[in-house]
Formats: sequence, structure tokens, C-alpha cells
Amino acid sequence: MASNSLGIHALVWVGGWSPEEAEVAISSSARVGYDLIEIPALDPSRIDVASTREMLERHGLRASVTVGLAADTDINSDDVACIDRGRDLLMRALEVSSGIGSTYLGGVIFGAMMKYSAPTTERARANSIAVMKELAQEARGSGTTIGLEFVNRYESNLLNTAQQTLDYLDLVGEDNVVVHADVYHMNIEETDFRTPILACGDRLGYVHVGESHRGYLGTGTINFPEFFGALKEVGYAGPITFESFSSAVVDPLLSNTLAIWRNLWSDSDDLAAKAHAFISAGLADN
Ligand code: MN
Repeated sequence: MASNSLGIHALVWVGGWSPEEAEVAISSSARVGYDLIEIPALDPSRIDVASTREMLERHGLRASVTVGLAADTDINSDDVACIDRGRDLLMRALEVSSGIGSTYLGGVIFGAMMKYSAPTTERARANSIAVMKELAQEARGSGTTIGLEFVNRYESNLLNTAQQTLDYLDLVGEDNVVVHADVYHMNIEETDFRTPILACGDRLGYVHVGESHRGYLGTGTINFPEFFGALKEVGYAGPITFESFSSAVVDPLLSNTLAIWRNLWSDSDDLAAKAHAFISAGLADN
């Protein structure tokens, strides 16, 4: 498992992406020993491409980019204007991602990241799949992998499990699209932490680790030995990125969507260092 790169979500450090915030997030991630920083691009225009790329290179850090679509950019929809706005946002996020040197664009990019008040429809799902195919084909030009992060029922009505994501992937039919698995969401929707990972096999391309309450790893109810064991079983060699959220660091675009109401930590450095040690030990034990 030595080949896994370890990543950390920018919201452990900062709630925005001004040049000052970017410098704090990138330098801190590198100092603690991470290989990669995951930068949220819910609003791609918030990221200054040239300065971000320069900071990443200066600190020797790689980056990935994630997006969650919103109600007015939902491609899992029947509304043509909504779908057009969503496609446009995804294409702009792809430009920012490749511009800063990232080769991964993922997240809740197949639909809105929100609590829906009704199930999806066959037509909305087909519309989402059609846009994803376009995005994947465009991404090929910059060697970018597209990741579909299935999330819990309160954040999507389309992809809640690994199997739903694999079925969706089959219909997209592009080999640069992968499954993005997050233990926080698996804990809510799956039967266990091993079966879905085995189902994904080599179509698993990105991993989020987070605790059941989104705080310090090892202080909640996630069965990490089972999860890390499953990653080893399928020979997963991709990134493993730590996600944790607290009301101590607030991103106005992301924190409310994720329902971050409580203060689960206030010392980003301590949290990040302990997570790095926890993941490294978990991988070594397997
Ligand atoms: Mn996640």
C-alpha cells in the first residue's frame, strides 16, 4: 500500500481561496507531510489558476479538485437551462483543475449536492449521464480522471451506493470515469465497508476517509480496519484523502450544504497530523 498518496481537504485549513488562504492551506498540508491537497471549486472563479499552480509547485504538493453542483446547476434534472448551467460550471471547473496541474476532478458532479424532496426520474438520470459523457470526453484532452462521489440520501437522490455508481458508470461508457468512495457516506448507506469496495475493484479511483461525525479519525464508529483491508484486497493504489469539517473553519459555499453546525475541532494542525498518522498506521496494519 506504499503507493497510495495521502491527501487532505482544504477546508481543514481555510474557508476560502484568497492568495493568503491558499498559501496557508498548501504550505500547511506540505509541512504535515501530505502529498496532495483537495481544493473545492463550487465556484471555479474563486480559484486563481496561476498563483495556485505556482504555490503547489513551490511546496511540492499535488492537487485534486472537487465540485458539488447546486439546485440551479443540477444536471440530474429535466430543466434544460439548469442542465446547461451545470455543464458550463463543470467545464469551467475542468479548466481550473487542469490549469493548476490537477489530474482529478470529482465530487458530487452528477447532480446537485442537496436534500431532494422527491426521487430522481429516468429522464433526469439520463440527462446527468449525457453531460457526464461530454465532461469525460473533454477531460481526456488534459489527461484528467473524472470521479463520481456517491453520497448519502440527504445529499443526493441519484447516487447513494457503490453499485448505483457502477451502473451509472456503465452507461457513461468512458474509461476515464471512476468511482469515488467516501467512508462517511458508506457508513450511512452500505451494508459494510468491504462488499462495495470489492464490487468496485479497479474502477475505484479516489477515496475519502472521514469519521462518522466528520471529526477526529478513530473517535467515531467507522470500521477502518475493514475498510483499509478492503482497499488492500482490491490492490487500490490511488489517493486517500482526509476530509473533516468543523464550525471552526467555515466555507460559506460548502459548510452549510454539508450541515456543519458543530465545533468538532479547532486545531487544524493537530487534526491533520493525527489523521496522517492514523491513515498511515491503518494502511501499514493491513
Ligand atoms: Mn467526501
